[in-house]
Amino acid sequence: MTVTTDQQSGSDFDIAVIGGGPAGSTTASYLARAGLSVAVFESETFPREHVGESLVPATTPVLIDIGAIDKIEAAGFPKKYGAAWTSAGDGGADPLGFQVHEHGLGTADVLFNEREQLGVDRDYTWHVDRGQFDLILLKHAESLGAQVFSGVRVHSVDFADRDRPVVRIGMGPHKSDVRVRMVVDASGRGTLLGRQLKVKVPDPVFNQYAVHSWFEGLDRTALADTTQQADYIFIHFLPLEDTWVWQIPITETITSVGVVTQKARFRENKDDLEGFFWDSVASRPELFKALKDTERVRPFKAEGDYSYGMRKVAGDSMLLVGDAARFVDPIFSSGVSVAMNSARLACADIIAAAEAGDFREHRFETYVGKLRRGVSNWYEFISIYYRLNILFTAFVQDPRYRIGVLKLLQGDVYDNEEPTALVAMREFLAAVENDPTHLWHDRLGNLRVSQESKCLF
Ligand SMILES: Cc1cc2nc3c(=O)[nH]c(=O)nc-3n(C[C@H](O)[C@H](O)[C@H](O)COP(=O)(O)OP(=O)(O)OC[C@H]3O[C@@H](n4cnc5c(N)ncnc54)[C@H](O)[C@@H]3O)c2cc1C
Repeated sequence: MTVTTDQQSGSDFDIAVIGGGPAGSTTASYLARAGLSVAVFESETFPREHVGESLVPATTPVLIDIGAIDKIEAAGFPKKYGAAWTSAGDGGADPLGFQVHEHGLGTADVLFNEREQLGVDRDYTWHVDRGQFDLILLKHAESLGAQVFSGVRVHSVDFADRDRPVVRIGMGPHKSDVRVRMVVDASGRGTLLGRQLKVKVPDPVFNQYAVHSWFEGLDRTALADTTQQADYIFIHFLPLEDTWVWQIPITETITSVGVVTQKARFRENKDDLEGFFWDSVASRPELFKALKDTERVRPFKAEGDYSYGMRKVAGDSMLLVGDAARFVDPIFSSGVSVAMNSARLACADIIAAAEAGDFREHRFETYVGKLRRGVSNWYEFISIYYRLNILFTAFVQDPRYRIGVLKLLQGDVYDNEEPTALVAMREFLAAVENDPTHLWHDRLGNLRVSQESKCLF
């Protein structure tokens, strides 16, 4: 491992980025393009497998901005024009005169082109094999001048000198120290700095687990209304509490399928991932029927207890982006979009800080404020879904709210004003909660969110 020292600044690099996932490679792309010297330390060698395969359109402006969009387009990932939700029953009573879908209130679908989105120049986004997607983005950062050190793990960061943090890295038995001006933690759910600085806290409400794999030959229209929906993401609600299945196209013939459930239910079955997966899917017989004849092409994998927040996402000479800053729940495919947009927002502050030669915490206030807004909006949207998921599908179907909900589903969550659909959903939910005679009162789920749990930093 050779690291060249810039004698003038007394540091090896301006910025060290921990992790080369979408948050890290986007950060590195913006900063390298701005002329900063950037080192990315990635513990794995890409391509590596990763969960989180369905994008939302809010990733597009960032891909355009960093100049990577043509590379992603050329990779030929399945195009994602829309999303659909299916449920076991007809969804039940319609208390508000919602315009009911022919299959009832529990079902809904959207097309992204129903709403124009600032900075988005195409009516689709993609479902991606994250091995390939993350590799393309990391190589892109390298092509812009970032130095990528693959197979190199960051063990800790020494902040004793606040102006020159020292990144302690290792590759097998080899250890080295790298002095930089600032550190960006993009280590994903590894949450390196969150753990080291003891600012990481479990999410007070969410504690889901997921079990997933890839399947060859699934008929993706088995539960669809039309064949055009074959390349949508499908979320199939299961008739089990807080449990759902994702169906994400990976190639023309391979589909990623995952079951998401609460910790308590998963714990009972943790030694038998395969049994747990099939038992869950069997609760929707038509889905089970479609899936049972496919061939599984990857081992089952579990992702556990993944929701958490940080009490702090920025400090002197350091900042957290992507999953290293916050992770809630994947129901609306928000993760990669948050990773890339948090990197975009962070880099505006980092570049300004570098120009001022001052990397103290107050320089990152704009980033912290915007991230707080975005994350709080996602969090509340997701929470409302879990508390009363029929409210979500009803709002999607109702022309009064549809475009507002679509805005959230597209990932447009960083505005100064609160999204109108969210305000309306919150008010409707409160009315259901406060009225025990409401037709939907007995459909309320157990997860309940307080204002404080929306954002922990
Ligand atoms: C069950 C589940 C389903 C999901 N589904 C979706 C979905 O459909 N759509 C979506 O957008 N998101 C989804 N997500 C979320 C998505 O996976 C993440 O939000 C996204 O990967 C975050 O990107 P990142 O760059 O912050 O972190 P990551 O992609 O995790 O990248 C972090 C990188 O840091 C490296 N690293 C970690 N520690 C160190 C260290 N100490 N030193 C050096 N390198 C290190 C890791 O090897 C990794 O490559 C899902 C998540 C889960 C758990």
